[in-house]
Amino acid sequence: MGLTGIQILGMLPKKNCKECGFPTCLAFAMKVAAGQADIAACPYVSEEVKEKIAEASAPPIRTVKLGSGDHVLAIGGETVLFRHEKRFEHPPGIGILVTTGMDEGEVSSRIEKFKKYRWERVGVKLEPEVIAVEDKDGDPAKFSALVKKIREEAPEAVLVLMSDKKDVLAAGAKECGEHKALLYGATMDNYKEMAELAKETGFPLAVKGDSLAETARLSEELMKEGLKDLVLDTGPRGVRELYEDQVIMRRAAIKKRFKPFGFPSITFPYRYANNLVLEYMIASVLVAKYAGMIVLSDFRGDLLYPLMVERMNIFTDPQRPLVVEEGIYPINGPDEESPVCITCNFALTYFIVSGEIEGSRVPTWLLIKDTEGLSVLTAWAAGKFGADTIAEFVKKSGIAEKVKHRKLIIPGYLASIKGELEEELPDWEIIIGPREASGLPSFLKEWKAA
Ligand code: SF4
Repeated sequence: MGLTGIQILGMLPKKNCKECGFPTCLAFAMKVAAGQADIAACPYVSEEVKEKIAEASAPPIRTVKLGSGDHVLAIGGETVLFRHEKRFEHPPGIGILVTTGMDEGEVSSRIEKFKKYRWERVGVKLEPEVIAVEDKDGDPAKFSALVKKIREEAPEAVLVLMSDKKDVLAAGAKECGEHKALLYGATMDNYKEMAELAKETGFPLAVKGDSLAETARLSEELMKEGLKDLVLDTGPRGVRELYEDQVIMRRAAIKKRFKPFGFPSITFPYRYANNLVLEYMIASVLVAKYAGMIVLSDFRGDLLYPLMVERMNIFTDPQRPLVVEEGIYPINGPDEESPVCITCNFALTYFIVSGEIEGSRVPTWLLIKDTEGLSVLTAWAAGKFGADTIAEFVKKSGIAEKVKHRKLIIPGYLASIKGELEEELPDWEIIIGPREASGLPSFLKEWKAA
């Protein structure tokens, strides 16, 4: 369990000197306990106390970082069982499998798919991060050549190197340089030499047990060897066991602080499916509960996209709505005669409205008012999108300098504030737009400034 503010206060020097940026030691201690301040901000705390507090406030599931530079993938770091309790921290990395048993054409086609399947939805990038490279014939030279090819052609990919032979993994690891790949994996038979390789390279190591019990034992042994960054595979024999293992490990780590399971997991849904559709269905369960990484046998756009959207939805913070910035958004190259529409800054509203305007090809100014991520009617009900706040925003936005006319199109759902808004903006004519964004194209096509 984490320390309380009062427990942390007991370890502080209680000078109330404000050097940490807080008015008192108590205020600072409360913020550290809540995870909103770093204990290192107090210059008078000993290293020993810092370590004690850092350990007590570390998440029950360790955050493991892979990759390098601009392409770092963090997995784990979770603190809750259910998203509504707080939020989930790191989405599972999603990857495609490439093996030394594939011919060059197949390898190239998979690398191409990895690079091709990228989308953007409500301002969030949806893209796979991982390529898992599996050794099929125990040949270090062949394995390192494949890793080299992938590093050259897809340097953004975070790699999982898969072999049960240390020399093969070592050859692949050499091609990675500074790029931290995941070494997969340590079994009961090879864990000592795999631990050595993990220490030599500084790469995280995956534990490959054949049951929950064996995974816990291996994890414990590797921790004793001094390894901190582990990723767990319990080697389940069926889908049910796969699901249950994820839940048991998460519960044990969070509820019981059982350290051997305090690491993210890696999963391979294709081991339990004989077709891609079933494989992606299993993957969709693992996104919710509780995989740290999901390796797929192949990518198919129509299956990958919904999986990515599911991942995005589950890993957004339920306490923070997705928003876009307040301001004036020119769409389709508007000029001084172009219509002016206004809506709220809830990201989904923005992307739907701007998408419809774009599709209409009518040059338009879109005003986005900060409503703290609330949608039109909710924002209106909360007093964040009423006549007074809209008027204030229109006046300060600078839109009056961009258009000659004075006509403002408001969402159809706000028809009731037309009169009030005209009083607040006496120079402007308020026009009630369509209720649904889908009505915008025909509405805008009939627009006339004069
Ligand atoms: S810097 Fe340290 S001693 Fe000074 S107020 Fe902050 S916590 Fe207290």
